[in-house]
Amino acid sequence: RAKHMGRSAAVRFQPHFERELQHRLTLETELAEALERGQFSMVYQPQVDLETRRIVGLEALVRWNHPQRGRLLPGEFLWVAEGTRLITRIDAWVLRHACLEAKAFGGISLAVNMSPVNLRYPGMAERILDVLRETGFPPERLEIELTESAMLDSGRDVKETLDRLRAHGVRLALDDFGTGHASLLHVRNFPVTKIKIDRSFIANLGVERDAASIVEHVIRLGRSLGITLTAEGVDNLEQVRFLRAFGAQQAQGFLFSAPLPAAAAADLVAQNREQFQTTRRPPGRSV
Ligand code: C2E
Ligand code: MG
Ligand code: MG
Ligand code: MG
Repeated sequence: RAKHMGRSAAVRFQPHFERELQHRLTLETELAEALERGQFSMVYQPQVDLETRRIVGLEALVRWNHPQRGRLLPGEFLWVAEGTRLITRIDAWVLRHACLEAKAFGGISLAVNMSPVNLRYPGMAERILDVLRETGFPPERLEIELTESAMLDSGRDVKETLDRLRAHGVRLALDDFGTGHASLLHVRNFPVTKIKIDRSFIANLGVERDAASIVEHVIRLGRSLGITLTAEGVDNLEQVRFLRAFGAQQAQGFLFSAPLPAAAAADLVAQNREQFQTTRRPPGRSV
């Protein structure tokens, strides 16, 4: 009977399994071609100073313009790339491309996401610094975003890579903070300069009492360590009020702007700068 059930289960599940495997293999092949065919592009989302409303940085987010399926979000294809060496090639393309496009953004910073897989390559710091040299992008303006998992099970190589980048002025942001095995230990062991509080906590501000107290504590701890706090996924003013009251310095989210193509992002930055210079500049203070 068990044997019979097992077989019928296999019969039922196999088509599904095969479809999934097929989907993965198709994506892998298409991803490899996508790089050569120039099907990737970047969009940029502003990071705003909560005190002044000034745009202080832009986060680069990758998009895949698939010839049949249209514009794909990272969530739809990066999981495949991360299982192969393709993620290293994609992230390398992203870094170079974003550094080139970001030259039109003025003096603000550029945040680039890096898959944890890449950090395990011993030569990664040098590769990143090479891209900065080749593109002429200043290291002090680059911020690399890493999730906690990059640091969690990492050996000495990862720490060396991050220390080396930091020594050259590159900043390091801990992305999606609170979703992994969050620990401020990582913040102390690695040269972290920014914490990005995950949007799931921000979404619950004013909804769930715990969310507010978690966010408040993370902000307080971060501040005491001299680390910049950024809130992700801010989409309403009530969240802004909470964040300012708790002392967060920056925010990012649809309230300020969705991710934009390079030209539109550059326009928005220029417009924001102008507005700041004509109406928001406090008298007697230089910026
Ligand atoms: P992330 O680094 O946490 O990026 C923020 C994501 O939240 C982006 O989604 C952005 O569009 C979305 N978002 C921003 N504001 C709001 C908001 O107010 N509400 C909501 N609901 N969402 C908001 P996206 O572009 O789909 O990126 C998803 C993730 O993919 C990123 O999360 C990042 O982990 C990864 N990713 C994106 N680009 C790259 C890349 O070039 N390389 C690597 N390795 N990962 C990337
Ligand atoms: Mg990010
Ligand atoms: Mg994030
Ligand atoms: Mg996130």
